[in-house]
Amino acid sequence: MPQLGFGVWQVPDDEAADAVGAALEAGYRSIDTAAIYENEKGTGRALAASGIPREELFVTTKLWNSDQGYDATLRAFDASLARLGLDHVDLYLIHWPVPEQDRYVDTWKAFERILADGRARAVGVSNFNPAHLQRVIDETATVPALNQIELHPRLQQPVPRAFHADHGIATEAWSPLGQGKDLLQDPVLGGIARKHGVTVAQVVLRWHLQTGNVVIPKSVTPSRIRENIDVFGFELDAEDRERIAALDAGARLGPDPDTMN
Ligand code: NAD
Repeated sequence: MPQLGFGVWQVPDDEAADAVGAALEAGYRSIDTAAIYENEKGTGRALAASGIPREELFVTTKLWNSDQGYDATLRAFDASLARLGLDHVDLYLIHWPVPEQDRYVDTWKAFERILADGRARAVGVSNFNPAHLQRVIDETATVPALNQIELHPRLQQPVPRAFHADHGIATEAWSPLGQGKDLLQDPVLGGIARKHGVTVAQVVLRWHLQTGNVVIPKSVTPSRIRENIDVFGFELDAEDRERIAALDAGARLGPDPDTMN
């Protein structure tokens, strides 16, 4: 899986083809969508129009909460594939655990079947806390390949990251740029950006890569789409990384996985 990909949350379906097309043009090969984003069709159109061989692309989509449960999952997966115009995805994720429904273990068993059928090359989860992951590990035969969680310098997630490392689960960061809000105005990050002659967004993405996270920044602006993948020509040093480590405030932008339904 490419460590840096392109996310399309909040990109309307009729803009998704252009945004994904710009990302593919800029060199991204991994695209992160979800059934609930309602842009799988536009994403699929851009993939087809690109002419890039399928085996060079890495496509992720996610199962929405109301489709959890064994049979409903299989139906929802078929619908996602049809909208994407693909015969397999590279990664399929349970979008949220929704503990109050208590269906994520049954849902995971359907994911195991999808994996066995070769219709997803890998299966994983999103927004699972260590306790949710532990249940899946204890009650099924398959460890999730990856957990996609909110993660950025103000929410560095040390406990989930350690759990993932112990179990061989990759950590993927959603909202890696803090949704482009206050984080990008942070004076410490600004100083590090000036020192390296890059932008704050590039510093943050570089920090993710050096921390070992998979990242999927989103933008619909072609210049930013290019900027966000141009992060392989500089390196943060130990002092930069210490200063960024000190920015962790445990501050979520999104919902709490224990209560999100
Ligand atoms: P992000 O952290 O990627 O920030 C995106 C925003 O930052 C853009 O809309 C833009 O306003 C700004 N931005 C982007 N590049 C910039 C640049 N170079 N300079 C200045 N501003 C810039 O936020 P996100 O979209 O929330 O997260 C990325 C992806 O993660 C999503 O598109 C989606 O694929 C995924 N995601 C998953 C979940 C989940 O529950 N699994 C939740 C949220 C997001």
